[in-house]
Amino acid sequence: MASASTSRFDRSVSSSTSKWSRACAYSWECRNCGEALSEDAEECPRCGAENIARYEL
Ligand SMILES: [Zn+2]
Repeated sequence: MASASTSRFDRSVSSSTSKWSRACAYSWECRNCGEALSEDAEECPRCGAENIARYEL
């Protein structure tokens, strides 16, 4: 039983990992100061600009 729940956990981990690498196909950068931003950023934490550029990698 323990091994069954372990393999189930492995499957969910690998599926969320592939989702994450899809999210990493984009890069966000502040057009004002050039700071690299995280994907959920709506404004630059460095200069406060809302002018965010999204690049497809
Ligand atoms: Zn900025």
